[in-house]
Amino acid sequence: MEILIAGGGVGGLALARGLAGSGHRVRVLEAAPALRTGGAAFTVFSNGAAALAGLGVPPGDFGGRLDRLRFDTADGATMVDADLADVARRTGFPVVSTPRARLIEHLAEGVDVVFSREVVDVEVRPDGVTAIDATGARHDADVVVGADGHRSAVRRAVLDPAPAAENEWTTWQGLTRVLPELAGGTTGVCVVGRAGLVGMLPSGDGLLQWWFDVDGPLSGPPAAALAARFTGYGPLVSALVEQIRDADLESFRHVTHRIPDRWGRGGATLLGDAAHAFPPTQAQGANQALEDAWVLSRILRAGPASPAEALRRYERLRAPRVRKVSRRAVSERTNKPMPAPVRLLLGLLPRAVVARAYAAQLRGVSSVLHGEV
Ligand SMILES: Cc1cc2nc3c(=O)[nH]c(=O)nc-3n(C[C@H](O)[C@H](O)[C@H](O)COP(=O)(O)OP(=O)(O)OC[C@H]3O[C@@H](n4cnc5c(N)ncnc54)[C@H](O)[C@@H]3O)c2cc1C
Repeated sequence: MEILIAGGGVGGLALARGLAGSGHRVRVLEAAPALRTGGAAFTVFSNGAAALAGLGVPPGDFGGRLDRLRFDTADGATMVDADLADVARRTGFPVVSTPRARLIEHLAEGVDVVFSREVVDVEVRPDGVTAIDATGARHDADVVVGADGHRSAVRRAVLDPAPAAENEWTTWQGLTRVLPELAGGTTGVCVVGRAGLVGMLPSGDGLLQWWFDVDGPLSGPPAAALAARFTGYGPLVSALVEQIRDADLESFRHVTHRIPDRWGRGGATLLGDAAHAFPPTQAQGANQALEDAWVLSRILRAGPASPAEALRRYERLRAPRVRKVSRRAVSERTNKPMPAPVRLLLGLLPRAVVARAYAAQLRGVSSVLHGEV
């Protein structure tokens, strides 16, 4: 088949990698003039790591392995201490924080990407699909996959003209060489309080991925505004805000798509944020895009009766899993202080119980860990 993928982000590139050697002709049309490698780091959880391994790109050799993830309160108490090494043992796959640039460059190896080709429209016919790019060129294919992010042009053309809805939350994030003791280890720390959440994860090579989730706009230059807002969040956060500069910071508004049962028509479908953008509070957006790529590549490799049947089968498998993540992510509850009784209860849980719950939660949102295809 002729398979055209709109968008060379993590999802589109992962799908192309998963189809390598399948006998299908696969091309990626990317709007940007080069790979888009900005955007700090991804946390690749065990489900995403399993997908990467299945796509032939094991995550073991890039990024920082996370063996522990602690959630502290701004006043210094530990609410949850998750043993991610135990989660890795239970699922068979590690948790890593990997710079976005490294993952994107790794996924792009050997993939046929045509840059500066923004897909602006898609026409679906009974016998095929045509993607039209901004130069007016028409690209005929058997299958068109919109992996073009949360502002997807393919989604507008084949599913839903409504844009993803913004809520009041924004993430301010960066990836720099700060807090060397934390950056050099395998423990991630999140601190939650009334001002929002601060996350800090070692990402390999002495880099620390850090972010601030805040509800509402900041006033004034962002580094100073964040330092003022997160005063009283303990010594780690004080040290972090002293060292960050405005130039280190990128901001992302939190957006959400409705996730219908069907993601396209005929030979057209969606993948990743184009299908199911949700806030980054569960750090699952890229993981779910990798899961989509794993499932879709396996279905397309199997040589289906028709492209449309194959795509509807993929959507039926993925939609219920992704909806679970989206429901949790939109609540933004990880960014808010927990009621005292819940904190107390969580603090009493043995680490093995927390790890078991974490692994079960990851399985619940994973097609890959269930071997669903
Ligand atoms: C602050 C923040 C932190 C995050 N942290 C994590 C995390 O820790 N773990 C995790 O799993 N997820 C995380 N995510 C989510 C993750 O970034 C996304 O879910 C993921 O990037 C989605 O991948 P994608 O390939 O679907 O879309 P994108 O990464 O958005 O890629 C889309 C690609 O399509 C291209 N494109 C756009 N329009 C067109 C067009 N019309 N034609 C052709 N090409 C086009 C773009 O240039 C881009 O290259 C985070 C998100 C944010 C905002």
